[in-house]
Amino acid sequence: MNASESPALNSPGVLIIGGGLVGASLAIALDAAGIAATLVETAAPRADAQPSYDERNLALARATVNGLDAIGVWRHAVTRATPIRHIHVSRAGEFGSARIDADKHGVDALGWTLPARELGAALLRRLDECTRLTRLAPATLMALEPVADGWRAQVRTAAGVHSIDTPLLVGADGTGSFVRVQLGIEAEQHDYRQTLFVCTVTPERDHANRAYERFADDGPIAVLPLAERRCGLVLTVAADEAAAVAALDDAAFVELAQRRFGWRLGRLSRPGKRHPYAIQRVAAVQLTGPRAVLVGNAAQTVHPIGAQGFNLGLRDALTLAELVADAPDPGAAELLARYAARRAPDRDGTMAMSHGLVRLACLAQPLLAPLRSLALLACDRVPPLQRAFARRGMGFRGEPPLAVLERLP
Ligand SMILES: Cc1cc2nc3c(=O)[nH]c(=O)nc-3n(C[C@H](O)[C@H](O)[C@H](O)COP(=O)(O)OP(=O)(O)OC[C@H]3O[C@@H](n4cnc5c(N)ncnc54)[C@H](O)[C@@H]3O)c2cc1C
Repeated sequence: MNASESPALNSPGVLIIGGGLVGASLAIALDAAGIAATLVETAAPRADAQPSYDERNLALARATVNGLDAIGVWRHAVTRATPIRHIHVSRAGEFGSARIDADKHGVDALGWTLPARELGAALLRRLDECTRLTRLAPATLMALEPVADGWRAQVRTAAGVHSIDTPLLVGADGTGSFVRVQLGIEAEQHDYRQTLFVCTVTPERDHANRAYERFADDGPIAVLPLAERRCGLVLTVAADEAAAVAALDDAAFVELAQRRFGWRLGRLSRPGKRHPYAIQRVAAVQLTGPRAVLVGNAAQTVHPIGAQGFNLGLRDALTLAELVADAPDPGAAELLARYAARRAPDRDGTMAMSHGLVRLACLAQPLLAPLRSLALLACDRVPPLQRAFARRGMGFRGEPPLAVLERLP
């Protein structure tokens, strides 16, 4: 339903601000659970209008795909996705490396890669099927005020400014979250002073469904398997080199990528259009306020190289939907406390892993080299460590939402 047709702006329901990958997933999960909700999104409801439905190639953990399947999104995306059957983690110039192979862990894939624009298109198609959801897009949250048992939001659409009352406000409005600021929730910020360049390349050798993460003094690089023998390249450079790297011609850019990644896939060629992203870490100091909750990047924005941001955000969304589905009052303080407690181990662990990995793996500190190599070798060779590494890599962390768990035939 569009803003122009929306009759029931004051119908009580969960109010989600932000229809990016996480907000849209939450809206769908609530609808699937029979919960009324309103989704407010600044961008028009088209994959090419939404800022994060772009060319970034997402590595979706196995748990994430289970979750997307459970809420009816995956069937709209599956034909565009590429399975990841092997993961290879290494550091330039050091001897250790860690490998995870799907078949050794009894699964057909550890995860899948999918361009964000394809996931966005699948979410939009699934949103069109929702029956209890009111969608306002393009529409922007302008102001919030507390009212008895909830919040009153002022939302601007093409038709004017509307008041919407809600018993539960969800901030799914991304890294710079307006909701977070209005709730007075502080956020810790860390600027990595790095820029990520994302593009596709064609390797000489078949990628064989292997995803690579390679760390180096000048930042991490990832190569993800894509359809038609292409690969998604994620190259990190220091922020003060970003302008020079952006100005490189294709041949010089590929040469840089080749130097940083090495020759595991033979010669890299045919780079697609390059997209730069400045990288920062933003972590809200708390996940909830009175009758309000933050999910996805609004709650935590992590370094993309660990491929955790959406994976973590979807687990936020599915956990919240699961709790709300069983509750008479979606904004009850006790429910929000349960939500925060349940998300804490996954969130803290994933954020610490993403941040620690990037910091430690990229430090040009010779004394660390043998320790890093041993740690990677241990993950590769010590079975309990390998199992824990694989389980986390597949997105099964903390107390996961039921929707991501494996369903046995
Ligand atoms: C280069 C790159 C590679 C990545 N790779 C991976 C990966 O491999 N795996 C992975 O899991 N994650 C990855 N991520 C992270 C992932 O993309 C993000 O975690 C995810 O997109 C966050 O989604 P979100 O919905 O929380 O936020 P966003 O995508 O930022 O969406 C927020 C939405 O809120 C809307 N909005 C903002 N303010 C308002 C307002 N006032 N009113 C209404 N609407 C508003 C915006 O228009 C936007 O659509 C990557 C990120 C980058 C940059």
